[in-house]
Amino acid sequence: MHILLMGPPGAGKGTQAANLVTEFGIPHISTGDMFRAAVKEGTELGKQAKACMDAGKLVPDEVTIGIVRERLAKDDCKKGFILDGFPRTVEQADALDGIMKDLGLSITRVLNINVPAEDLIERAVGRRICKKCGATYHVKFHPSKAEGVCDACGGELYQRADDSAETMKNRLAVYEDSTRPLIEYYKKAGVYTEVDGRQAIDAVTKGLVEALKS
Ligand SMILES: [Zn+2]
Repeated sequence: MHILLMGPPGAGKGTQAANLVTEFGIPHISTGDMFRAAVKEGTELGKQAKACMDAGKLVPDEVTIGIVRERLAKDDCKKGFILDGFPRTVEQADALDGIMKDLGLSITRVLNINVPAEDLIERAVGRRICKKCGATYHVKFHPSKAEGVCDACGGELYQRADDSAETMKNRLAVYEDSTRPLIEYYKKAGVYTEVDGRQAIDAVTKGLVEALKS
């Protein structure tokens, strides 16, 4: 079961990945974790990636692809994996196809948790976080009992600067421009499935699991 998980920022990808790990017992591999592990292990590619990140530069594609190749070749990936955050471009998707071929594997399914931009903006703009304990609320979907006060600890609730409509619109526009070609790519390959991410968390998980079992 070799899965790619896609979804816009705020679609609940992390939660769904965790549920799929529980369901199928295969590792969740996010780009961030992969980079951190390579840097920590001090591999040659990890060192190169760290040098770029420390200099505030983008990590070149060949380094990223190399790190993915090393990670997917590990034993725990033989049974399957949930890859998240890679590929981001058609060039990277081509590279991933090559890696999979070399490993004698293939992508089982590409799952996209689809949530319309207006819903994601509403989710972000209404989000409130406790300054003291980090609990999250939503003014409409999960309000605190007293406005602006955390139910759990009485701390003050605040809105993250990133959770503005403007920031979300920009992030989503960037996401959509970069993923549209990827969606076409995987549709053509016949492995693409979209699941409605506006449903409750359990219903989304159920949709993803059904897509994988069909
Ligand atoms: Zn609190």
